[in-house]
Amino acid sequence: MANHVNLTFHGAAKTVTGSCMEIESEGTRILVDCGLFQGSRSLETLNYGAFTFEPDTIEAVVLTHAHIDHCGLLPKLVAHGFEGPIFCTDQTSDLLEYMLADAGRIQEFEAQRRNQRRDRAGEVTIAPLYTEQDALTAWRQTRPVPLEEWFETSTGFRARLWNAGHILGAASAEVDAGSVRLLCSGDLGPQNKAFHADPEGPSGLDYVICESTYGSRTRVRLSIAQRRDLLDEEINKAISRGGNLVIPAFALERTQELLLDIAYLADANRIPNVPVFVDSPLANRATRVVARHSSELEDLEGKDIFRHPAIHYVDDASVSMRINSMSGVIIIAASGMCEAGRIRHHLAHNLHRRDSTILFVGFQAQGSLGRVILEGAKQVRISGTDVNVRADIRRIDSYSAHADQAELLDWIKERKPISGSLFLTHGEPGAISAMTELASDDDPALSIIAPAIGESYLLQSGAPAKLAGTARADAAELIGRDWQNDYAEFAVRLKGQLSRISDAGSRQKAIADMRKVLERYAEVQDTRQTRARD
Ligand SMILES: [Zn+2]
Ligand SMILES: [Zn+2]
Repeated sequence: MANHVNLTFHGAAKTVTGSCMEIESEGTRILVDCGLFQGSRSLETLNYGAFTFEPDTIEAVVLTHAHIDHCGLLPKLVAHGFEGPIFCTDQTSDLLEYMLADAGRIQEFEAQRRNQRRDRAGEVTIAPLYTEQDALTAWRQTRPVPLEEWFETSTGFRARLWNAGHILGAASAEVDAGSVRLLCSGDLGPQNKAFHADPEGPSGLDYVICESTYGSRTRVRLSIAQRRDLLDEEINKAISRGGNLVIPAFALERTQELLLDIAYLADANRIPNVPVFVDSPLANRATRVVARHSSELEDLEGKDIFRHPAIHYVDDASVSMRINSMSGVIIIAASGMCEAGRIRHHLAHNLHRRDSTILFVGFQAQGSLGRVILEGAKQVRISGTDVNVRADIRRIDSYSAHADQAELLDWIKERKPISGSLFLTHGEPGAISAMTELASDDDPALSIIAPAIGESYLLQSGAPAKLAGTARADAAELIGRDWQNDYAEFAVRLKGQLSRISDAGSRQKAIADMRKVLERYAEVQDTRQTRARD
């Protein structure tokens, strides 16, 4: 009889973050990814709870790529007893040194910030989720492996990585668990992505686990040249206004893509000769790693673009501050959604300037400062100060590191025949159901499963997966928006909405009405509690 194989989804199920799959056969366990949960407060609390498996029983991790929602809990895994190898591409390993260390510093900083508040309130202090030291220990456990070559992960398991075309080093992970062969997509890149070839992978598998981030979205497909035309237009318009062009960008990949396009436009004399400041220490480290691997990248045309004379990398905080007094420059800074980092002081200094331009080139999550600005707020609050928005707010929608709906479906088709099941993960419920519908229209006989967090499946070669362990009791709540999301969004909009009421008297009345509503709910609560005590 063939061995049994179990697959458990510990995260990124009906939600995008916290990627972590456990594959078990005859008592041997490996993980594919071990990512941080991000987004709603209830999802983020999962980072702090105990792992739902024993870290010291895991023999190896196969890591798809260096994004924090795929690797961000590795330091915690290591701190809780995991001593095995972390297999990934050498590019991912190089990126991890900085990405994980940065995540460790953020965790330490976050704990410190919370403890100041707890200290004042006389509450017990909390330990950081993990430290920079834990992060570096995890990084030392990485074992780089080449693409498309089998390697043994542990007894009875071998694995092989395939280019996923998503970010530097990103791979899909094929796992041969003896009796069954499965493929985890990791995050898949789009076609026409700068630097990377389109995703590749094997065909003829028992099980395929496919991400669904943009499962309900179809993008207008632009070539690299067409995207550059858009950027050309935005830069020329912004610089002719006389102020600065501020571009919030993710430190890894988006920053380097922008640099490639800006260097190209500068060399072609299509944009004015102005300084470009990359003002993010993490982006600068990521750029150095990308530059080190430039011989493996596409679209560089033999140029050393990252050392272009127009590009200045700013590490020092005092130099970063000095940019505040400049005009007519391009500033690229992280974080990409304006939630943290140096972008915030550049926004504080440029949002109120009529001659400056803010150009968004990446996804802005609901509730983020970037989203609020993009949706046309007239005033925003940055580090305790109200800032009026007078700058020109612009957007280019066509940079993406993710495959859209059609590209995801194409990728799935190329993996066929799939003799067992197709699992759809790493997406919001709407994206997953859109993908389920289309994939089953395509192939009505295919077993398609949308797993929930905590679910386990029994895998057998050539047969659909069987549910073997049920989801966490709170799985449905975890993926919904919680009241804290709603509150954050409400609070952000409150002042703007009040200012739209024409006279002061009506504004006061609106506040009084809101207060009454809140008091009424508090009263209902009180009566319920009294009754419960009775
Ligand atoms: Zn990713
Ligand atoms: Zn991801």
